Amino acid sequence: MAENREKATDQMKLWKESRGSQKAETLTTGAGVPVGDKLNLQTAGPRGPLLVQDVVFTDEMAHFDRERIPERVVHAKGAGAFGYFEVTHDITKFSKAKVFEHVGKRTPIAVRFSTVAGESGSADTVRDPRGFAVKFYTDEGNWDLTGNNTPIFFIRDAMLFPSFIHSQKRNPQTHLKDPDMVWDFWSLRPESLHQVSFLFSDRGIPDGHRHMNGYGSHTFKLVNADGQPVYCKFHYKTDQGIKNLTVEEADRLATTDPDYSIRDLFNAIANGNFPSWTFYIQVMTFEQAEKFPFNPFDVTKVWSHKEYPLIPVGKLLLNRNPLNYFAEVEQLAFDPSNMPPGIEPSPDKMLQGRLFSYPDTHRHRLGANYLQLPVNCPYRTRVANYQRDGPMCLSDNQGGAPNYYPNSFSCPETQPACLESKFKVSADVARYNSADDDNVTQVRTFFTQVLNEEERQRLCQNMAGHLKGAQLFIQKRMVKNLMAVHPDYGNRVQALLDKYNAEADKNAIRVYSRGGASSITASKI
Ligand code: NDP
Repeated sequence: MAENREKATDQMKLWKESRGSQKAETLTTGAGVPVGDKLNLQTAGPRGPLLVQDVVFTDEMAHFDRERIPERVVHAKGAGAFGYFEVTHDITKFSKAKVFEHVGKRTPIAVRFSTVAGESGSADTVRDPRGFAVKFYTDEGNWDLTGNNTPIFFIRDAMLFPSFIHSQKRNPQTHLKDPDMVWDFWSLRPESLHQVSFLFSDRGIPDGHRHMNGYGSHTFKLVNADGQPVYCKFHYKTDQGIKNLTVEEADRLATTDPDYSIRDLFNAIANGNFPSWTFYIQVMTFEQAEKFPFNPFDVTKVWSHKEYPLIPVGKLLLNRNPLNYFAEVEQLAFDPSNMPPGIEPSPDKMLQGRLFSYPDTHRHRLGANYLQLPVNCPYRTRVANYQRDGPMCLSDNQGGAPNYYPNSFSCPETQPACLESKFKVSADVARYNSADDDNVTQVRTFFTQVLNEEERQRLCQNMAGHLKGAQLFIQKRMVKNLMAVHPDYGNRVQALLDKYNAEADKNAIRVYSRGGASSITASKI
């Protein structure tokens, strides 16, 4: 019924109501010049042609022609919201960052949730990791945690990132998603086994964005006021409880409501049902890191909760929807290299690669002055530096302040208290191959101890149901990798593949006998 529509569907009506009895504004051109007629072109006679002097038309059409900015290469489809982070537990012994200054301190945040591989018009309910990026507008500049809904990632060396993403996106000729490309890459790089196993488990299709956890995923460093560093991981656990969609429900929603997750988040916030997440850290000392059985900076692995328990820190709460999607979500740009004093990167090779690639992509997508856009601007502090000019400078460009350093004319000065912590590196420079850096132990724990029997069964079904689309030699290589995790894992997936392959053969033979084709089956090339 029109009267009972959800808030997201009623946005136009609610917007009109919010204006009350305010008089309609005067319609203008982009230059603010009032417009007399917005329905009819200015033409020589009733049948045209039109005049170049019709700036009411050219002003709007020229702007329309330029409406799209480059789509994000990954995480193109997303939803955003705003709220705050509140400290509930003191962690100042670990970090001097002002965002953790005292219990009760609130810092405004922006959050963007997303799928990864699909384009901006793709369905929300696909099996895909979800992005979960948080921007904290702190008193000391912005802190961006560009996380996901998994504590791990597919690869551990950023050199592989462009190829990994290519393999998950469209085939260069057919422009189709290509199971050969997807599984070729995953089976050639067994470090992906852990994340691939998460992906094909129930949590691979979260029920909207509110019912999933978030993780900073990488190892970071926290540094306290005495300059003492520790390594750390960030976790944000949903207070709504974990909820996932079944494959059948997700498939149904992909056609009936492809924007399911955007709608769910918008309505929840519009109805005052504010989603929240409890924020935790795990901490590892440098001495513990030396003795850790794995590389503690390997993003394909977790730190055991038992050995490195979750330490509560605070709460993330979302209580405002974007006022305008393009301005506040499409232009929202996260950059893991935005870290205020007290939070630093670890040597994690994937993190180090992202420190470069994120700001680089924003400069391409939004321009060199993207940090001046209201949603990206560190508005709780004052930007004072020697950067000037560039396209679309929105600020006063720092007026008459000196634009070189050092200078003798009153300039922004460095603060020694904000120096990064020192660390020792004394290794040989080389391209170290980390491909065989124990790709199976934690996946085995996940398969045998975290999942129950039904969950294991669904994981194998989901995986085989997708892997069956790849060529046989790729299937075999993938199953060999699964066997190394646990024979039960490999055998179950192989048994399901045998069934699917036999069905595909039967269908191919049926086609052959009907059509008299000379080759029996394409499925076994
Ligand atoms: P625990 O045995 O203490 O806890 C298991 C973890 O697995 C919980 O965090 C749980 O999340 C999470 N989990 C449950 N089902 C799934 C799923 N389908 N996909 C992803 N995560 C799931 O963990 P340990 O620290 O001892 O690690 C054991 C194994 O658990 C690891 O090898 C790893 O595979 C997995 N894991 C570990 C995490 C960590 O940071 N240590 C985080 C996530 C997974 P929740 O509590 O929210 O239900």
